[in-house]
Amino acid sequence: MNNCIFCQIVKKEIPADIVFENNSVVAFLDVNPTNKGHTLVVSKRHFADICETDDSIASEIFVKAKNIAHMIVRAVHADGFNLIVNNGSVAGQVVMHTHLHIVPRFRDDGLKQWPHKDISKEEMQEIKNKIASFLKE
Ligand code: 5GP
Ligand code: ZN
Repeated sequence: MNNCIFCQIVKKEIPADIVFENNSVVAFLDVNPTNKGHTLVVSKRHFADICETDDSIASEIFVKAKNIAHMIVRAVHADGFNLIVNNGSVAGQVVMHTHLHIVPRFRDDGLKQWPHKDISKEEMQEIKNKIASFLKE
C-alpha cells in the first residue's frame, strides 16, 4: 500500500531500528514506546489486520515474537512481557498493517492490567455456545 507507514519501513523508504528481518517478517523498535524495548513484529506483506493475514504469516509473527521477546528481556533486563495485537480501531489499532506488539514489563512499571467485567453465568454459556457453533461452520 502506497502511503502505509509500515510498508515504507519494510521497503526501507523510511528508517526504523530493525532488530530482526527474514523473508516474511520484520521487527523494529516502536518509535513511541510504552516501555524500553517495546518492539513491533510486522508482516512484510501488507494485510490490514490480523484477520486478513495468511495463517502461515500470522503463525510466523507469533513464533518470532516469542523468540524475539526472550532476547528483549535479556537486553533490557525485563521481568516479563505482553504480546498484544490491537485489531480494529475500536481496539486501538492505528496503523492498518498487521503487527504485534512486544511490550517488556518491569516490576512496578506503573502500567495497569486490564479491568474485568461482571458477566452472568447465563450470558457466559450463551456466548460460549455461539462461539463454539460458529467455529464448526
Ligand atoms: P497500533 O495502535 O496500530 O497497534 O500500534 C501502532 C504502533 O506503531 C504505535 O505504538 C506507534 O508508536 C508505532 N508507530 C507508528 N508509526 C511508526 C513509525 O513510523 N516508526 C515506528 N518505529 N513505529 C511507529
Ligand atoms: Zn502496509
